[in-house]
Amino acid sequence: MSLRLIGFDADDTLWHNERFYRLTEARFAELLGDFAEPQDLSARLLEAERRNLGRYGFGIKGFTLSMIETAIEVTGGRVPAPTIQAILDAGREMLDHPVETLPHARETLERLCGRFRIVLITKGDLFDQERKLAASGLGDFFDAVEIVSDKNRAVYERIFARHGEGPERALMVGNSMKSDILPVIEAGGWGVFVPHELTWAHEHAEAPEAAERFRRIGHLGELEPLIEEIAGG
Ligand SMILES: [Mg+2]
Repeated sequence: MSLRLIGFDADDTLWHNERFYRLTEARFAELLGDFAEPQDLSARLLEAERRNLGRYGFGIKGFTLSMIETAIEVTGGRVPAPTIQAILDAGREMLDHPVETLPHARETLERLCGRFRIVLITKGDLFDQERKLAASGLGDFFDAVEIVSDKNRAVYERIFARHGEGPERALMVGNSMKSDILPVIEAGGWGVFVPHELTWAHEHAEAPEAAERFRRIGHLGELEPLIEEIAGG
């Protein structure tokens, strides 16, 4: 059965993203240097983010609120207002960061476009993801864009049914084992993992090495040949 739909993750698959989180986290550590060690701060921040995911969802706004919450926590409620202001400014700066596409992203989309249904599947703040897609210049390659609150099996099944012909004939490409690969394989689709040097701790998971439809590539330049192989086989 040949492939019909190719899904692409956006952040750190098509363009850089995590690096802006890391830069902001370094700034956050600097701001609270008098109260906590950077490592401890990072651990507490990650805890706060995880705690808040169910309410705030993924994205920069939730991250900013989690930084403020962590700042209140580590200062025992004594965080000065100018520090909170600096955290808010850092979050706002992230929402304006330039979009830099990753190597091979554009050429790969160019080659696949028209031959398959190409769908961008991403989670995060709606405004921010729309802004990045527009700024990336890649928008025209996609037949559809799905900005979802979470990436799980049910969400993929719905997207693959709506835009393609079900998971059997769908392939998803992404840098998050947990969000882009595991649920797609579980649904019966192909999962192509393209690691990025920086990936948020929350997105780490064991690779499904034994799964028949799991593949790993070094960079997006290796995607089209792999798809030829799968589509032809
Ligand atoms: Mg990603």
